[in-house]
Amino acid sequence: MVVRPCGSPWVPTPPTAVGGHGCPPPHGCIPRGRFKDFYELEPNKFQNKTNGITPRRWLLLCNPGLAEVIAQRIGEDFVADLDQLQKLRSFVDDESFIRDVAKVKQENKLKFAAFLEKEYGVRVNPASIFDVQVKRIHEYKRQLLNCLHIITLYNRIKKEPNKPFVPRTIMIGGKAAPGYHMAKMIIKLVTSIGDVVNHDPAVGDRLKVLFLENYRVSLAEKVIPAADLSEQISTAGTEASGTGNMKFMLNGALTIGTMDGANVEMAEEAGEENLFIFGMRVEDVEALDRQGYCAHDYYERLPELRQAVDQLSSGFFSPRQPDLFRDIVNMLMNHDRFKVFADYEAYVKCQEKVSALYKNAREWTRMVIRNVAASGKFSSDRTIAQYAREIWGAEPTRHRIPAPDEPRE
Ligand SMILES: *Cc1c(COP(=O)(O)O)cnc(C)c1O
Repeated sequence: MVVRPCGSPWVPTPPTAVGGHGCPPPHGCIPRGRFKDFYELEPNKFQNKTNGITPRRWLLLCNPGLAEVIAQRIGEDFVADLDQLQKLRSFVDDESFIRDVAKVKQENKLKFAAFLEKEYGVRVNPASIFDVQVKRIHEYKRQLLNCLHIITLYNRIKKEPNKPFVPRTIMIGGKAAPGYHMAKMIIKLVTSIGDVVNHDPAVGDRLKVLFLENYRVSLAEKVIPAADLSEQISTAGTEASGTGNMKFMLNGALTIGTMDGANVEMAEEAGEENLFIFGMRVEDVEALDRQGYCAHDYYERLPELRQAVDQLSSGFFSPRQPDLFRDIVNMLMNHDRFKVFADYEAYVKCQEKVSALYKNAREWTRMVIRNVAASGKFSSDRTIAQYAREIWGAEPTRHRIPAPDEPRE
């Protein structure tokens, strides 16, 4: 059984289950726990609506440059009817549009780089991939998988310092709940890896690791328009939906992600070939549960994973307190409910594909355009309309409601 750590009351449907009036239950799940009895009485009262984000905040307000180049091609009506972004599909071969979209992203990156320098005195390479994972710090969201990838990149640079390397700036941001020790330790790990990587002259400006403190909506509005790569790497079956994933898609970042939550629908809308999808699907996670997940097997079989874990154990990233990350290593090796090691190899390989595509700026941007064009479904206008119609039976009024600042009769 998949238990969603966010407290979602949905569980996967057993093959025999049937919803109200013989219809299949929503998104293949039925409610569990205290909702189960209610579901049996009134199955029609249990529905699921795909989440959404408001395009006013998450495009017009936070990314006026992108909104402008879109409006120049398809007009302004997409603002209140996001499905119209589909019209951008006819511009994937339009060289002037490709150039404009790439230019807006570069401007957003420069602006965020200037913000980082002014606020924190850190300099980043604006030609590097801006690789961003911003969300609450939680084991199921697997910031630790991202950390293992960073360590792997660092070790590769150290091993072959003259080999070409596609530069990356990896930014991780998010809050840890006050009583959640493991989440606090994950933040400590990110900053500790940064202390080593960012000060190693052998690395130069090819790899930088930043922890973005005090992640909140106002910071999201700055970093998301500047992101090239959106990290959505939770264990399949654990993320109820995600909305950060949608914000990045609308703002022209490509997604590296698992088939989890709304990533599944993003892949459906854009085509799986336009996302970097990797790792276990829900069925694979369930099969691994039946077989019994053994982290030691991966540790023994994958030399780069073993090196990274050994560095955590030996205090390589915490020389003044060598046992600082003992709890993290113990968790990963002996009781990792989210199976980080099981997706490590596929994740690192998928990141190699990301780097390879980034070298081809034109193809990268064309994939960005296909994603933006496919992001219309993720407007909260659609979510709200579905709630109104399909749950409350409310139809739109024929009368236009004046805005709050408009004079009323
Ligand atoms: C959108 C948003 C989230 C949700 O992010 P997920 O990646 O879906 O978990 C969390 N915090 C802030 C500040 C946000 O803007």
